[in-house]
Amino acid sequence: MPKVMEYFGELTFSKAVMREKLSREVYEKLLDTIQSGNALDESIAGDVAHAMKEWAISKGATHFTHWFQPQRGGTAEKHDAFLTYSDQGDLIERFSAKQLIQSEPDASSFPSGGIRSTFEARGYTAWDPTSPAFLHETGETRTLVIPTVFLSWTGEVLDQKTPFLRSMRALNDAGIKLQRLLGNRLARKIVVNAGPEQEYFVVARRLAETRPDLRICGRTLFGAAPAKGQQMEDHYFGSIHPKMMRFMEDLDRELYRRGIPAKTRHNEVSPNQFEIAPLYEEANLAIDHNLLMMDIMKKVGYRHDLEVLLHEKPFAGVNGSGKHVNWSIGDNTGANYLEPSASPLKNVNFLLTLGALLLGLDKFGGLLRAVVADAGNDHRLGANEAPPAIMSVYLGEYLTKLIDEIAGMGKVTEQAVNHISMGVRNLPRVAKDYSDRNRTSPIAFTGNKFEFRAVGSSQNPSEAMTVLNLLVAYGYYIIETRMSELSSIEEVKERAITVLKGVFEETRRVRFEGNGYSEEWHREAAARGLPNARNTPAALDAYLEKEVIELMARSRTLSERELRAKVEIKLETYNKTKEIEFKTATNMARTLYLPALTKQIAASASAAGAMKQAGLDSSVLLEEAKRFESLFAEIRARAADLEAILQEAAAEKNHHQRAFFLAERGEAALGRLRAAVDTAEELVAAEFWPVAKYQELLTVL
Ligand code: ADP
Ligand code: MG
Repeated sequence: MPKVMEYFGELTFSKAVMREKLSREVYEKLLDTIQSGNALDESIAGDVAHAMKEWAISKGATHFTHWFQPQRGGTAEKHDAFLTYSDQGDLIERFSAKQLIQSEPDASSFPSGGIRSTFEARGYTAWDPTSPAFLHETGETRTLVIPTVFLSWTGEVLDQKTPFLRSMRALNDAGIKLQRLLGNRLARKIVVNAGPEQEYFVVARRLAETRPDLRICGRTLFGAAPAKGQQMEDHYFGSIHPKMMRFMEDLDRELYRRGIPAKTRHNEVSPNQFEIAPLYEEANLAIDHNLLMMDIMKKVGYRHDLEVLLHEKPFAGVNGSGKHVNWSIGDNTGANYLEPSASPLKNVNFLLTLGALLLGLDKFGGLLRAVVADAGNDHRLGANEAPPAIMSVYLGEYLTKLIDEIAGMGKVTEQAVNHISMGVRNLPRVAKDYSDRNRTSPIAFTGNKFEFRAVGSSQNPSEAMTVLNLLVAYGYYIIETRMSELSSIEEVKERAITVLKGVFEETRRVRFEGNGYSEEWHREAAARGLPNARNTPAALDAYLEKEVIELMARSRTLSERELRAKVEIKLETYNKTKEIEFKTATNMARTLYLPALTKQIAASASAAGAMKQAGLDSSVLLEEAKRFESLFAEIRARAADLEAILQEAAAEKNHHQRAFFLAERGEAALGRLRAAVDTAEELVAAEFWPVAKYQELLTVL
């Protein structure tokens, strides 16, 4: 067995490879681009492209692709061979500066929310040099992958990476400005680190294949509750099944080869549910790595005859899957502003960053809810599952006390500042035992980072991080403005705490320490005026609030046109998802469940006939046959209802109205169909039941 460090990153065009393959001058220029995030010096692009191609070819690659993050989710790629004609007309393998920097995928089939008209259907992708190129590997084939952003010819956003990079710039500007005010001369660039914890289910492939709902929708639309679900609580952190262990080891190896630092692996709450988390990395890279990881997970699954399910709620009644995004902010010196310290100034910085998030959340809680809204996540957020749809922060008892103390303070003196700093300094000692105590909060402070738990397991975490960045950038901006107005207070720490007094007081409503599932919290949150969107179409409304449009425009993250296009795409995606689910459900009812009932009715009726002929009492069997007959009628009628709803929805041309209709009337109709099918599942002979049941799906590997 080779050691991890011998093959870690072997499929990436890493710094070590760059140093080896590039001249010193080109290497240093490229490194500067990567570290500063500035535009690439075009004069070196040719050399970089050539070195990349040579490296890729030496590893067996024949093609390259620009890899991007379309707004509909996931990733997209189009492959081109290096093969081309030389000036002399001979066939050669070449990769030019232009091919590295820019490409024009035929992008007309990617949703643009109306931004592109068909005559300008082509968008272009552009290299993001801050994320390393790597090799895709499918069996024997290898492809050079260039991480890119995707824009329309008019420069408008068509992807998820561009807004994220723009939000980083906004956060950087606001953050550095505040640091200067605090007298920090060393910080040159704000750095965000992220570590997404990825939850997933695994199902034996041959069982998954019996289920059109799993294959088409990624989740089950039917299925009676298993006798043994998660109620024994014996799966979480339990010993890992050997078959699963082999999968996990294989997965970790594949991730390491691609430079993804997978760190933890364990069983989750539900049977057949698991989690994998990497070491944190710079956010842009962490996002790319999470997307790549999701892709690799599925592919490694195939090798082990396993279907990896990334859906937020593949099984009703058991735990759903989320992606806890751990987020922290610091700078190029390695400082983490969320890390308590021995230095009073750093502790003031800590409180300012906390205050900035509270300010952002107080103002834009609805937006943070909106970015995690989609058809899959609707089954988690607000649906009696962690976390609730109300966006609040959990700080733990100790930090809460400290903050309340600041909010209630009289005049801010040097003594008071030192006292507060001591309080922050002692935080790590108590942080360990409180950070994991409240699992019901969507945003928890966990010692030296925030953990945002509302992201869905299948989602690109980029949008959530974009908004976290913007929330803190907004808060920094407000704090910096208020501090600048307080020039009468000379000492900067005292000025900062004076501003924070107000901030902590006015943002009280977004802090909540109690049980996020409880009825009381829902009532309390309503009284506090906190948004609580019940489903995707309701949540998406927040995007188009005047203040959100302004925030996006002022931070130059999304123009109003881009924002409206984004909402349009989200609604369209939601509607398509629902329509596919409903069609799959009616198909399954008609082609699988009704025929199963027909067999059962025939069997019961013929058994009754046989008994009668033998002179025995057949009344019980006839009763059974009648019961199956009425279930047959019920399923048939409920499937027809759902079909009628689909037709009515299709007639509604307004996406927004249609989404509400599908979310409310559609979901309710699916629920009624499901109830009838699930009742049948518990009564029909096992030999007639056409699909694998929850009990098998959740225990067999
Ligand atoms: P827990 O199990 O309490 O949620 P872990 O220490 O296991 O916390 O970390 C979970 C995730 O958070 C990991 O991906 C980890 O790398 C990441 N993480 C840890 N520290 C930071 C940090 N300072 N900034 C961002 N992410 C972090
Ligand atoms: Mg965690």
